[in-house]
Amino acid sequence: MSSSTAPARLTVLAGPTAVGKGTVSADVRDRYPQVWLSVSATTRSPRPGEEDGVHYLFVGPEEFDRMVAAGEMLEWAVVHGRNRYGTPRRPVEERLAAGVPVLLEIDLQGARQVRGSMPDARFVFLAPPSYDELVRRLVGRGTEDEEERTRRLETARVELAAESEFDVTIVNDDVHRATDELVSVMGVSSVGAGSA
Ligand code: 5GP
Repeated sequence: MSSSTAPARLTVLAGPTAVGKGTVSADVRDRYPQVWLSVSATTRSPRPGEEDGVHYLFVGPEEFDRMVAAGEMLEWAVVHGRNRYGTPRRPVEERLAAGVPVLLEIDLQGARQVRGSMPDARFVFLAPPSYDELVRRLVGRGTEDEEERTRRLETARVELAAESEFDVTIVNDDVHRATDELVSVMGVSSVGAGSA
C-alpha cells in the first residue's frame, strides 16, 4: 500500500475481446505491485489455472443478484450475451481513499457505467494492431468453441468502433510495452518495477 493519503484516480482498461486485456492486466499485477488490480465477480465457471479470489470471485447467479440488489457493484454487465461480470465497489473505494492507484479491466458496457458514476476516472482503450490480428489471437488461444468465438467477434466489431469514447488508446503490439505505457498513463513510476 502507498503511504500517501491523497485519493488516487481510478483507471479503466477496456477493449475488444482477445485484444490481450487479461494478459496486460496480469503483467501489471506481476511487475507493478504498487497498482491494485480489481478482482471482478463473475457467474462464469473458472478456466483451468484460474483461482477464486485472484483472477475472479466465482459466484453463483443468486449471489450475483444479491450483490447487485445490495448496491455492492460499482458496475456490472452481461458480457458476450452469456455470463455476468461486475466490479465489487468497496475494495475499489477503499484503495482509492488510501491513495492506491486502482485498475479495472472491464468490458465496454461497464466502462460506460463507470464514466457515468466516476467521471474523473481515466479511460484507456486497448486496441489490437489490426482486426485480422484480433481474429488470429482469438482462434489461437483456443479457449472458446466456434459458436462462442463467433459471438465474441460480433461483440469485438462493435467494441472497436467505441475507441473514440476513450481518453487514451494503447496498441497492444507487445505486452510489456503496452503495460509500461498503461502504468505511465496511470502516473505510476516504473522505478523498482522489476525487469521488462
Ligand atoms: P473472460 O470470460 O474472458 O475472463 O472475460 C470476458 C470479458 O468480461 C472481458 O471482456 C472482460 O473485460 C470482461 N469483464 C471482466 N470483468 C468484468 C467486470 O467486472 N465488469 C465488466 N463489465 N466486464 C468485465
